[in-house]
Amino acid sequence: TKEFVNCYRIEGAPDKLNEALLRMAASFAVSDAKMREIIDRFHQSMRDGLNGDEAGMPMIPSFIDRRPTGNEQGKFLSLDLGGTNLRVCQVTLLGKSDFHMVQQKFTIPAEAKERTLFDWIAQCVSIFVEEHDVEPNPGEYSINCGFTFSFPINQTGLAEGNLIMWNKGFLVPNSVGRDVVRLTQDAFLRKHLRVRIVAILNDTVGALMTSCYSNPDSQLGIIFGTGTNACYWERLSNIGKWAGPKEGEMVINTEWGAFDNAIEVLPYTMHDNKLNRKSPNHGLQVFEKMISGMYLGEVARNALLYLVDQRLLFDGRSSPIFNKSYAFDTAYMSEIVSDDSPDLTEVRKVFEQTLEIPSPTLLDCKVAKAVCDMIGTRAMRLSAASMAAVLLWRPEMLKGTVTVGIDGSMYQFYPSFDKALYDNCRPFLGDDFVDNKLKLRLAKDGSGVGAAIIAAVASKHLQ
Ligand code: BGC
Ligand code: MG
Repeated sequence: TKEFVNCYRIEGAPDKLNEALLRMAASFAVSDAKMREIIDRFHQSMRDGLNGDEAGMPMIPSFIDRRPTGNEQGKFLSLDLGGTNLRVCQVTLLGKSDFHMVQQKFTIPAEAKERTLFDWIAQCVSIFVEEHDVEPNPGEYSINCGFTFSFPINQTGLAEGNLIMWNKGFLVPNSVGRDVVRLTQDAFLRKHLRVRIVAILNDTVGALMTSCYSNPDSQLGIIFGTGTNACYWERLSNIGKWAGPKEGEMVINTEWGAFDNAIEVLPYTMHDNKLNRKSPNHGLQVFEKMISGMYLGEVARNALLYLVDQRLLFDGRSSPIFNKSYAFDTAYMSEIVSDDSPDLTEVRKVFEQTLEIPSPTLLDCKVAKAVCDMIGTRAMRLSAASMAAVLLWRPEMLKGTVTVGIDGSMYQFYPSFDKALYDNCRPFLGDDFVDNKLKLRLAKDGSGVGAAIIAAVASKHLQ
């Protein structure tokens, strides 16, 4: 931790500035001991959740109790409702781990996030079905559809589940506590769409299924994106709250974004608190708010403004743009931390041109880069801790190779995210495992393909 903190000292900067910077670095630091504590608390929350005490983590049974074989076949419509986009896809599973996919992306407008979501989804589906001439399979009345839904639902079956809550800035009225399959299906009916949702799944489950389709040793599906979450294969005998048969396995959606909402072990700072206090789901998804793409930029903005207010940055001046909540997109952080040029040209561009901060100096740029780096590094350490925790939960899985299917913008675009996941796990999983057995793989288009695989299983296209 000392090393971590000291590397943020800026040569030649005023003492007062360096002191503030190092204090900030200390507040964002995550030591190995802290990671160990987080892993232990993760295990406690997982155990509690599986036994019905969901205050720590929901640990939701997915009703998926069979591993895909790679031989699933058929043509399906998939919907992937994420935090930012809706993807409508037509997926053809060809068997032999092969598939073909046509997709269209729709950016979710604010109005849909706040009001008209389900009718808006139906609208997009109807556009897609028309443009791509999607028809029901011969002999069937409607088009079979798998729905990847990136919000927590309490599943009561493969094609039903009640919404627990919205997050990632969504707040559609009259939907919490209701079956989202029903709500979507009703919107389809209003548009006379012959589309039948045969399965609903979390996006992490989509990533895991897609990964399983080509790598049978896949054990975890993770999203490090706008939000964050993971699922894994659990023994049914270990799921105390599961009333059905106890033999075999089932995918559990951990909803780890909700980890430690009580803030007992997380390295939570005043900058996190400011974000949390002002967010529509305040007090919830605390872990997610420390590591995912929707929030990281805002944590950084808060931390930067804290320095501005002390006249340690930008000569004490912000800008109307930078003063707006969520104006500092996490994508800017990626650009900033990867700028290794001597005069930090890209960093300056972001602040001067995009955010209209008047004449940032080189020192300003160095400070801003340091702050972004601290927050990004914390995110990657916490991400690694949570992944290690789930892997260590089933130690028998660690004997052979383990594939982890991962998707999301943080994983894909944040500099060195993949490498940091491997490296930060070493103290807990061991070098041999990390170097030789752990395979982190991008589950590209996991949500679309995963939904088709589950739809195949659900509609008995299983071969
Ligand atoms: C949701 C999860 C989802 C994750 C990643 C979180 O906000 O609660 O259900 O898997 O984001 O998209
Ligand atoms: Mg997604």
